[in-house]
Amino acid sequence: MNTPPTDYENLVAATKATLGRIAVDFSPAVFASSLAAEDMVLTDMILRTGLPISIFTLETGRLHAETLGMLDTIKERYAYDIERLRPDPGAVEQYVENNGLNGFYDSVELRKECCRIRKVDPLNRALAGNTAWVTGQRRAQSSTRAELDVQERDEAHDMTKFNPLADWSEADVWKYIRDNEVPYNPLHDRGYPSIGCEPCTRAVEPGEDVRAGRWWWENPDSKECGLHVVDGKLIRIKSAT
Ligand code: SF4
Repeated sequence: MNTPPTDYENLVAATKATLGRIAVDFSPAVFASSLAAEDMVLTDMILRTGLPISIFTLETGRLHAETLGMLDTIKERYAYDIERLRPDPGAVEQYVENNGLNGFYDSVELRKECCRIRKVDPLNRALAGNTAWVTGQRRAQSSTRAELDVQERDEAHDMTKFNPLADWSEADVWKYIRDNEVPYNPLHDRGYPSIGCEPCTRAVEPGEDVRAGRWWWENPDSKECGLHVVDGKLIRIKSAT
C-alpha cells in the first residue's frame, strides 16, 4: 500500500508546481534572492531543474562577507552566476556626504532613505520589463508578513508577485535544506535567523522573534526595507486567481 504524502511533501510539491507555473505562464520572471535560508530553498528548486527564472541579489555595499561568499558557493554548487544589482554610486556618495556612512541609525527616515538608495531603486531597475517576481518571504516571519499570499498583485510595480514559501514554517525550510544538502549562509548557525546588511543586523537570542535582529533599534512595525511596502504602508492585495 502506498504511503500518503506528508504535509511537508505536499508543501514541497506545491511550491515546485508554483515555480513551474511561474516559468511557463509568467515569463519573463525574476527571483530577488537575499541569499538567506528561504532563498536558498527556492534557488535550489529553480537551478536543479533549470527553470527559466533569473536570479539576482541586491549587493548593497554593506553585506556581510559571509553573505557575499554565498555567491561563490552557489556558483560552485550550481554553476550559476547570481546577478548582482548595485546602487547608484553617485546617490550613495551624496547620502554618505550628507548623513555619514551610518546615518541610518539617526532616524527611520534616514534608514528608509539608505534602503531606498541601496535596495529599492536597484530592485525597481531589476524588475522593470518582467511579468512577475519571486521572493522567499514567509507568513510566519513577522507581524508585517502575516497576510502574505503565495500569489499577489504588486500594484506598485504593475506586475505579479509570488511568495512560494508563504505557507512554509522555519522547520520546513531547514528540513528541505538538510534533506537536499542545500548550501546556506554560515551566519544562520551563529544566531542570525534573518540576514540583511551587516550594520543593520544583529544575532538574536533563542526565543526572540526571527526578525528581532533586523533594524533592532526601531519599532517592530517599521521593520520593512521598502521592498514590499507601497507609499510607506504595507499593502497586501489578495491573489488575482
Ligand atoms: S539595511 Fe541598513 S545599510 Fe542596508 S540599505 Fe537599509 S539602512 Fe542601508
